[in-house]
Amino acid sequence: MPRILLARGDITVQRVDAIVNAANSSLMGGGGVDGAIHRAGGPEILKECRLLRAERYPDGLPTGEAVATSAGRLPARWVIHTVGPVYSRSTDRSGLLARCHTSSLGVADALGARTVAFPAISTGVYGYPLDEAATVAVRATLGAETRVEEVRFVLFDERAHSAFERALRAALDSK
Ligand code: ADP
Repeated sequence: MPRILLARGDITVQRVDAIVNAANSSLMGGGGVDGAIHRAGGPEILKECRLLRAERYPDGLPTGEAVATSAGRLPARWVIHTVGPVYSRSTDRSGLLARCHTSSLGVADALGARTVAFPAISTGVYGYPLDEAATVAVRATLGAETRVEEVRFVLFDERAHSAFERALRAALDSK
């Protein structure tokens, strides 16, 4: 079970083995944390994403799955791209959101990454309520079978940070 740390700030400056990108299935970049990672990491990441699209994912990366590229100019060694679900009020997509975390940790294991930073996947443009997303993310991570030793959730603002604090406390209390 990985140790979970919470941090406020920008995921692109984290000194960890791998950072996770809340990508979209096109892998061609976008807004939010995806845009920030490509801007800070430089064109190398997009070049590798194009290759992945051409060779492995002609229809795009499916929701819940994860794939790695190098990290260009970022301090991390790898970027693990995963696609979170778009929030739906009528369908429970928490299984897909949980799978983003377990798939990303599986990719981290294959790379030999021991420290991994995650953003709050699906809580921006994809509309997931923060408390719900935080609960799913924390529980999936604590339940994951992985050799990753440290998972650092990097929260961009105070609202996200306090949602993850509540979720982590609740998950640890219920153990
Ligand atoms: P999604 O499409 O999965 O909802 P977004 O990028 O729109 O992804 O948002 C996911 C979360 O990432 C949001 O909580 C947003 O505030 C946060 N975020 C945006 N930029 C950064 C950054 N540079 N570092 C960490 N988190 C970020």
